[in-house]
Amino acid sequence: MVAVVRPRTGTTSADRNSSKAPGPFHTDCCNDLPAITPAESVIAGKGLQQSVSVPPDTEVTISQRSSKVHPVATYLFVLVAATFGSDAHDRRTAGDFGPPAKQPGGKPPDDGVGHDMSLPPVYGGEVLHVDLETGDSHTEAIDEADARRFLGGNGFAAKLVHEHVPAESGPFDAENVVVFAVGPMNLTPFQSTSRGVVGFVSPMTDGFFDSTFGGSFPRAQKSLGFEAVVLHGRAPDLSYVRLSEDGAEVVPAPDLEGRGTYDACETVREAEGQGFDTHVIAAGPAGENRVRYACLLHQSHDREGVAGRGGSGAVLGSKNVKAVAIREGDFEPELADESGLRNLAVGRMGELMEGTEMLQEYGTSGLVNPINEMGKLGRRNNASELVAEADAEAIGGERLKADYVTEDTTCANCAVKCGKHVSVEARGITQAKIPEFESLFATASMTEVYDADRVVEANDLCDRLGMDTISWGVTVAFAREAHERGLLDADDDAGLLEFGDAEGLVELAELVAHREGIGDRLAEGSARLAAAIESDEDDPSKYVHGVKGLELAAHSPRGLKGMSIGYATSTRGGSHHDTRPTRQYAGEHDETTEGTPEFAARSQHFTALGDSLTQCRFVSEGGWGAEINDRYRDAINAATGWDLTTEEVETVGERVYNVERLINVERGVASRETDTLPYRVMHEPIPEGPNAGMYCPPAELESMLTEYYEFRGWDEDGAPTPETLERLDIGEL
Ligand code: SF4
Repeated sequence: MVAVVRPRTGTTSADRNSSKAPGPFHTDCCNDLPAITPAESVIAGKGLQQSVSVPPDTEVTISQRSSKVHPVATYLFVLVAATFGSDAHDRRTAGDFGPPAKQPGGKPPDDGVGHDMSLPPVYGGEVLHVDLETGDSHTEAIDEADARRFLGGNGFAAKLVHEHVPAESGPFDAENVVVFAVGPMNLTPFQSTSRGVVGFVSPMTDGFFDSTFGGSFPRAQKSLGFEAVVLHGRAPDLSYVRLSEDGAEVVPAPDLEGRGTYDACETVREAEGQGFDTHVIAAGPAGENRVRYACLLHQSHDREGVAGRGGSGAVLGSKNVKAVAIREGDFEPELADESGLRNLAVGRMGELMEGTEMLQEYGTSGLVNPINEMGKLGRRNNASELVAEADAEAIGGERLKADYVTEDTTCANCAVKCGKHVSVEARGITQAKIPEFESLFATASMTEVYDADRVVEANDLCDRLGMDTISWGVTVAFAREAHERGLLDADDDAGLLEFGDAEGLVELAELVAHREGIGDRLAEGSARLAAAIESDEDDPSKYVHGVKGLELAAHSPRGLKGMSIGYATSTRGGSHHDTRPTRQYAGEHDETTEGTPEFAARSQHFTALGDSLTQCRFVSEGGWGAEINDRYRDAINAATGWDLTTEEVETVGERVYNVERLINVERGVASRETDTLPYRVMHEPIPEGPNAGMYCPPAELESMLTEYYEFRGWDEDGAPTPETLERLDIGEL
């Protein structure tokens, strides 16, 4: 680490901030701005003030919606077309990959204060380190070789966590860090790179975790020129961190204690006095109380961004930090080939809009009914994967759109606008975030609550209290089954633990966030709760729907073979953003184990690359292809001026995934023993519906694990070998 004076590797614009209202990160929500087409907004790149029109000679086809074809059918069809119709390369053997990315010839030229002058000016050039205890901060220059190796976002977060968190430190120890990282594409015309990454050691898995979120915060961070901000140590008192181009200030804020996420965001914005031009992300009471799956919520002018999974809110809370606020800066990335990147983005617009039609209409809630029809929607703590049609319809996207949705919302620089606000008059709820598909699975079908009013209310409460709806809902589902089986003595709260109890669901959100009554035990997550239950008659862990301490998301590990091996090997545990289910729903590797370990591994490369670019997954899969292909290569090369091959681009994803695995191996949480699946998934076939009989027995998983380790170049226990680390140019880690 080198303490340096801040550089300006890109360009600045003196008048960029002069048009502060409504700010350069807003999209087409602002009435005082000229109306723009979706195509214009998605390639605006630097914000509306600098939006560009589609060149007249470029054909952009945006499909008309058809009332005859179900949007999900179109969605899945287009994804398959995007994948197979692309110029994707087949993965060659590991040894065939391109040469190491590291620059030959020793140290590159610098600018006299430690900055690598060969770093493409699309990068802001620095990492900002903040000592929460003293309030001091300093910057560290990023060198080009590391940018080539790790790209940004997820890659930078993994590298920084590996560098700064000792393997023996616990998630709530001061030595843990919280990394906010963005990628080379933020603030460029590359579509929907409005997302950022939070990296940390998770209190759920005790391993590396990166959680992504949208809104306007990541683009504001990029405007500071800090590709990553690393929070170290622990503040003496409850505080928020103010980030500006000058660095960081730790601002004591005792008044924020106990406040909900939205309230905290608003209070900090008021204190900063710049309205929505200050971009805030905050923890809720759950974070302060170290609920292990506490999340962070960012409220932008246009929509909420939630870093939902893994417990980022709990780690921030353990550092006595309630919120992080950004005052916009002047940094603007400089592209190696701006028109090239812009043309690439324009060229994907038609397919993107067609491929995301369902998301535009319903958000992800549109997946409830079609996935239930496939027989892959977990119900009653996953005892079944089929919900009665009327129940599914009561909570599905079509119903929510008809009776609850009040407006579309969007992250910055996105034409898809998958976000929605919902209101429930009877419960006094207005403009709440719509429950995502994953949340509807976890909080509704898993707990057997199909009262949409209460489901929306419970989800809104989780957002306000700052809790991951997936882990919370699946933990409630576990507790309900454990109680039903006589394993969980809930004393006065027993009435809340009946499957189907809608009132109890809502009440449990408050109890968990404040660690009151049974809520204190549920705040530990289902795996720890099961381990703490003493029983001579039954093993409570048999009913946990999780991997490596993290509750599984909605995509069936019994009904989708790719998810079986994908979840088992996920560096984040039960995450559906390691191996993706999307292509499996379209018929790839859903029912066969043949070639599935390689499919799952390469999907993990795709997600690691995407999160390093910080492009929204829905936009990637809908518009650019659901696997690494030449399009991503061309976009990265246009932005940076590099000449990476597609194989080298995939190696970035593979490298990042290996760093994550290495962290987890060093921490003792990743091995053949922990690469496993829930008991029910391995021993109880799906009892009913189109997938009746499907499961992943232990022998099948073992066989896939062996094939997966061989493909990856890991040893028999699942650790990356020294040769593999050398091949990936991370031998020094
Ligand atoms: S598709 Fe949805 S989540 Fe993705 S960037 Fe657009 S609004 Fe945000």
